[in-house]
Amino acid sequence: PSPLGPTPKLVIDLERLSQLPKEKAGALARYAATIQSQRGDYNGKVLSIRQEDLRSLAVIYDKSPSELTEELINWGVLDPEARRAVESF
Ligand code: C2E
Ligand code: C2E
Ligand code: C2E
Repeated sequence: PSPLGPTPKLVIDLERLSQLPKEKAGALARYAATIQSQRGDYNGKVLSIRQEDLRSLAVIYDKSPSELTEELINWGVLDPEARRAVESF
């Protein structure tokens, strides 16, 4: 196990996501909304997603998972801690 502790979760900041321009964040926003609806998880300020979903999103954005993670950290949608969650990919 890592000396930094367990693998952090991928937690999307939904408030920040809603402030970003559609051209950038539209696909991610639709993906997150679909997960919320499948879970019946509304009114959340954040949404924990599966590692596997980040892989799918990377395909959608035509990036590697670590490139997409950097972008989402830059947008303020993911915490920098999320880098450790994709190291294991
Ligand atoms: P499913 O994948 O068959 O999961 C059924 C139920 O198992 C989920 O119901 C949830 O209670 C539990 N579950 C499965 N995996 C996890 C997990 O990693 N963590 C936690 N805490 N619980 C888990 P739920 O939440 O009502 O979701 C219903 C269905 O919606 C899921 O069926 C799945 O098809 C879809 N779904 C929900 N959230 C996600 C997601 O983050 N990513 C993807 N790809 N699908 C999701
Ligand atoms: P945590 O995972 O660190 O989450 C902290 C808080 O962030 C949660 O408090 C909740 O307010 C919010 N949060 C995180 N992910 C989501 C999400 O996907 N949807 C929504 N609506 N809110 C989210 P909460 O609910 O009081 O949970 C406290 C702690 O209880 C969690 O800390 C976690 O350790 C545990 N927990 C809650 N639900 C689950 C679960 O489905 N699976 C597991 N393994 N632990 C859970
Ligand atoms: P979590 O609930 O703390 O689950 C951590 C990890 O345990 C998951 O990472 C997954 O590898 C495993 N796990 C937990 N429950 C199940 C399960 O029912 N089936 C299987 N096959 N594996 C399970 P993962 O997939 O990266 O998910 C990260 C976080 O995303 C979860 O943390 C949870 O907060 C959220 N999540 C993922 N899928 C679902 C879902 O279907 N429903 C809900 N409500 N939350 C989910």
